[in-house]
Amino acid sequence: MKRQPVKVVRTVADLRKVVVGWRKSGEKVALIPTMGALHDGHLQLVRTAQKRARRTVTSIFVNPAQFAPHEDLARYPRDEAGDLAKLKTVDCDLVWAPGPAEMYPEGFATRVVPAGAAEGLETDYRPHFFGGVATVCCKLFTQVGPEFAMFGEKDYQQLQVVKQMVADLNLPLKIIGVPTIREKDGLAMSSRNKYLDESQRRIAPAIQRAIKRLADECAALGVALTSARIAKLAEAARAEIAAAGFDTVDYVEVRDAVTLKPVDGKSGRPMRVLAAAWLGKTRLIDNVAV
Ligand code: AMP
Repeated sequence: MKRQPVKVVRTVADLRKVVVGWRKSGEKVALIPTMGALHDGHLQLVRTAQKRARRTVTSIFVNPAQFAPHEDLARYPRDEAGDLAKLKTVDCDLVWAPGPAEMYPEGFATRVVPAGAAEGLETDYRPHFFGGVATVCCKLFTQVGPEFAMFGEKDYQQLQVVKQMVADLNLPLKIIGVPTIREKDGLAMSSRNKYLDESQRRIAPAIQRAIKRLADECAALGVALTSARIAKLAEAARAEIAAAGFDTVDYVEVRDAVTLKPVDGKSGRPMRVLAAAWLGKTRLIDNVAV
């Protein structure tokens, strides 16, 4: 059977008409929030969603509220035609692509302010970021009204922040985390990888190698993993990333996998290694489980 083009809606009213129709037929809905410039990581979220829900809605919205004035909002890659072609290959049912005026109409004045998992890590470098993410996700959830929303582990702190918001505000949906899809050399797929030139692209997988090694070292130490050992091992991983050719390393941290607070081996809690570093003007983030 020939695949149909994916239907696109651009107003909340049109979105609701489609979703209400599905609801009437008893069909479950999963939302995949994205900023477009789609790659196989995003498509994996759609495929995973289809295992849980009959209907999938992918939102494409480059959210101005999560970019600071000096960040890359203007040059963030946009390719709606390419995105629609990719979504057609995985049979996504609907694309929700509002313009900025539909999402933030004149007079818009309410913001979700996340704390807890939002404290530290990314927030130390991008203080505006999770407020923008939480606000837009809250709106997307109430606009679409899905049973499930899919988020990549690639943006691990974001996944924990969204889970916390959904629990704290009793939002009636379940957040599903999806493992990171990587290139063959280990680099996490990201829309921002398009910014890398050839030599930066060769350096980029070093971030994943360094945090993987750090995670293995932490796992091997077990209960002998003290905060002092973590600090030393993390410093070595930072040095490894810098030596590979990254220009600035924002952080390399070992944290509690749920609260994202500092941990040690004695806590017996699941841990996560998270890192962010710059190659020229491009900031890459990555994380792995311990
Ligand atoms: P973005 O368009 O970058 O805002 O990402 C939209 C969603 O796709 C987020 O939940 C991301 O975590 C997820 N995502 C991005 N890259 C990947 C990847 N390589 N593997 C899995 N999920 C990803």
